[in-house]
Amino acid sequence: MNSRPKKSFGQHFLHEKRYIERIVSAIAPRTDDRVVEIGPGEGALTLPLLAAAGRLTAIELDTDLIPDLAARAAGVGTLEIIHADVLKVDFTAVARGLGVPRVRLAGNLPYYISSPILFHCVDHAAAIEDMHFMLQKEVVDRMAADPGSKVYGRLSVMLQLACRVEPLFDVPPGAFRPPPKVDSAVVRLVPLAPHERHDADPLRLHAVVKAAFAQRRKTLSNALKGLLDSAAIASAGVDPKARAETLAPQDFVRLAKLSA
Ligand code: SAM
Repeated sequence: MNSRPKKSFGQHFLHEKRYIERIVSAIAPRTDDRVVEIGPGEGALTLPLLAAAGRLTAIELDTDLIPDLAARAAGVGTLEIIHADVLKVDFTAVARGLGVPRVRLAGNLPYYISSPILFHCVDHAAAIEDMHFMLQKEVVDRMAADPGSKVYGRLSVMLQLACRVEPLFDVPPGAFRPPPKVDSAVVRLVPLAPHERHDADPLRLHAVVKAAFAQRRKTLSNALKGLLDSAAIASAGVDPKARAETLAPQDFVRLAKLSA
């Protein structure tokens, strides 16, 4: 099928076979896996993933794409299509419904909501075995950035406190129809095991990290006014005169635990 891609849904359909094959072999689905695909579109990844796993759950917002996708899956495997906005899908409930503790997530994500999708996945990390996502390369660089890097920020800290972040390979615009204006990259995210996860209150952590990076050039004692004073910052083992971009993800956990 060759539908007219809709800009408002962030539709850039993958057509280059070698990248489709590289993504599917990075995921390496097994027959007992419960794979959940975000944004199946015309099925570039859906059909090979379905052929390998035997069954697949796909979440698609664009109603127009669904009948054709269902028809093409017939005879390949069992495809369940959830017509929904992925940001409203409770992955924990999806895993429960599939009778497994954790699902494997995959998708060439709609770029206009890539960060909200990533934060949504972090909220459900305990119900996710791993994730393989195509994103803007710039976003993957931010997710994997180390402290001190220009692109280290809120996304790096929040993702790295929840998952192991492993950039896999880059994908050029010409691999998609229509080509996006930016380079893309595939990343693997593996949620941390329970004993590796931080134990700070999630809302406090969000508040501290957001405030710390809101004005990157400010010292922490200025940026965190109202949440932590200089003495509290120092008691977390962090220099109040430091800037957020120099802190390791775990420093934010200690700050969050002491915050108001
Ligand atoms: N997987 C296909 C491929 O690789 O060719 C399509 C990828 S395209 C970049 C993103 C897909 O996500 C589209 O099919 C689009 O309709 C769908 N989508 C956009 N917003 C969505 C949302 N909020 N929830 C679920 N799917 C969404």
